[in-house]
Amino acid sequence: MKLLEERIRKDGIVAPGNVLKVDSFLNHQIDIGLYNEIAKEFKRRFSDVNINKILTIEASGIGIACVTAQQFDVPVVFAKKTQSVNIAGDVYSTKIQSFTHNRVYDVIVSKRFLHSDDRILIIDDFLANGCAVEGLIDLIQSAGASVEGVGIVIEKGQQSGGRHLREKGLRVESLAIIDSMNDETGKIVFREQ
Ligand code: 5GP
Repeated sequence: MKLLEERIRKDGIVAPGNVLKVDSFLNHQIDIGLYNEIAKEFKRRFSDVNINKILTIEASGIGIACVTAQQFDVPVVFAKKTQSVNIAGDVYSTKIQSFTHNRVYDVIVSKRFLHSDDRILIIDDFLANGCAVEGLIDLIQSAGASVEGVGIVIEKGQQSGGRHLREKGLRVESLAIIDSMNDETGKIVFREQ
């Protein structure tokens, strides 16, 4: 998605540790015009997919999931990061290793919001090692629901998450794929799509 790549080049900051900061337009301050274009692009790429729900993870996936859900006219469910594991049995839970915070979260979704007949599109802002998406897939499988696709705004192609998911046969659509980035020069190389 050219508009997104141009914006990343203009306002993205390559930080040490293979982290791209996009907080001036994507996940702290939000450019709603860009969000709407992202949502339309997800709708275009997944136009042949029959979904009834979008699943994401708090916090930065929520806004993107919501604008995308407007395009598909489906509800959004977001997985919650929690300190305490719920033992009442009314939630599906999994563990997710956070790339940016370098810790493991317990992540839950209420059983009321994921059902065996759900056809789900996963949406998130970044794909790096794939832990967040793998965790969401785990929750979906616990409910017996199906993963119809994975929509990612920025995939860091130099990390293995995207490759592993595609090798499993999942349909992953990333609107921008970064092949390399350099925190000393700030240079970002995108994959041709
Ligand atoms: P993964 O679980 O695929 O390793 O990492 C994906 C999650 O980590 C995303 O939900 C995102 O919040 C965060 N993340 C991974 N890499 C980056 C990055 O370079 N920049 C930012 N801002 N977040 C990232």
